[in-house]
Amino acid sequence: CGVAGVWGPAGHHAALVREMLVALQHRGQESAGIAVGTGNALVARHGAGTVEQALPGLGGLPGGPVAIGHVRYATHGTRDGLAGAQPVVLDHPPLALAHNGTLVDPQRAPGAEAIEPELWATDSELMARLLLAARASTGADTAAALHAVLPGLTGAYALVLSDGANLYGVRDPHGFRPLALGRRGGAWLLASETAAITGVGGEVVRELEPGEVLSIGAHGTASSRVEVPDAKTAACLFEYVYFARADSTLSGRSVYQARYRAGQALADYAPVTGSPRPVVVATPETARVAADGYAERARLPVVQGLLRPAAAGRSFIAGDPAARESLVRRKLAPVAAAVAGERVVLVDDSLVRGTTMRTVTGLLREAGAVEVHLRIASPPYRWPCFYGIDTGRPEELLAARLPITELAEQLGCDSVAFLSLDRLLEAAGGDSSGYCTACLTGRYPTAVPVGAVPAPAT
Ligand code: SF4
Repeated sequence: CGVAGVWGPAGHHAALVREMLVALQHRGQESAGIAVGTGNALVARHGAGTVEQALPGLGGLPGGPVAIGHVRYATHGTRDGLAGAQPVVLDHPPLALAHNGTLVDPQRAPGAEAIEPELWATDSELMARLLLAARASTGADTAAALHAVLPGLTGAYALVLSDGANLYGVRDPHGFRPLALGRRGGAWLLASETAAITGVGGEVVRELEPGEVLSIGAHGTASSRVEVPDAKTAACLFEYVYFARADSTLSGRSVYQARYRAGQALADYAPVTGSPRPVVVATPETARVAADGYAERARLPVVQGLLRPAAAGRSFIAGDPAARESLVRRKLAPVAAAVAGERVVLVDDSLVRGTTMRTVTGLLREAGAVEVHLRIASPPYRWPCFYGIDTGRPEELLAARLPITELAEQLGCDSVAFLSLDRLLEAAGGDSSGYCTACLTGRYPTAVPVGAVPAPAT
């Protein structure tokens, strides 16, 4: 999911939030919504689909000092389509909440037992209810309610909230999901990615720290920390691999550079030798940067062997397997003139379910490629994510089901190789201490649901 928020003393911020949501569209296409705070009330619009589909105009949203927005992709166990659209908006007192991430076992959160089950169907709705309950029972303001509720939650949450007058930004104590602060003119901006700030002509001020609660309003800005003992930073490594835009920075590090260096390292680690000299093809769009790095290091030509029409959705995000496969066939066009008669090095950023990849290698062979050597710019994805990336059930993860030696045959390739974790971390500019690598290593930074993590194949 992607979240955005704007606070400024005057103006119509819904239009700016909408622009930022368009810049975050790659983070979710299932629904979109905007809530505007008019001082003491909130007015919201939601719709299903992309921002263009869900919010074709601003639907009569009023002006006001604050607006927040959300683009959603349904994570495991949450509702699809419009039913799960955010921001979650509650009244008495007003509260709007937009959430990127997923809570682990939300029903175990302190106070959850007191909230009627029919009042919440998603972890985000539960969080909003808990905050409202904290405000109602103690008369606390929103920041105090956040400090009362958040230490009891486990999992991933980058939040943008409003009580009608103020804007709040929150990152969970592990910092799983990113959240950046920016300025444009007199307005403060919050967004899941820096690209959504620079993309609207804003200036990035900084990224929020793990555990930070930032409030912005007529009082100025105030920052505080959620107190959770022993919470170590565990930023999602997969944001660099796949999820974030290449023009964003995460923890001050360029996503583009991380992907380019991963591609270079992959060429060192898993070259494709022999003759005739192969050509490099990227699976569009996120793998293009890694493919460029691979080709540069291996001194091989890059060809546009696969084209993606401009309006294509991201196949990773599409819901069920059959829908995903047909989406790939409709949205990826092999270019016979580029690959016919060629030995192809196909570079992708990751291999999760493998459904997409099976179809892609078939398309290349149909277009005349004589060999297809798959090179993946990250390690095998073997363990499920509980922190906001929908990788499906553990049995759907291809590298968890099959030994590496059987992957090439399963995927219709001549060879398959992955980048090692050490080299990926090096490319991202850090060591494993600051990152979550659970889907690649099985080492989860938090407790996870009992019995949810099977032993993978080796
Ligand atoms: Fe990211 Fe993987 Fe950790 Fe999920 S499990 S937060 S995808 S690194």
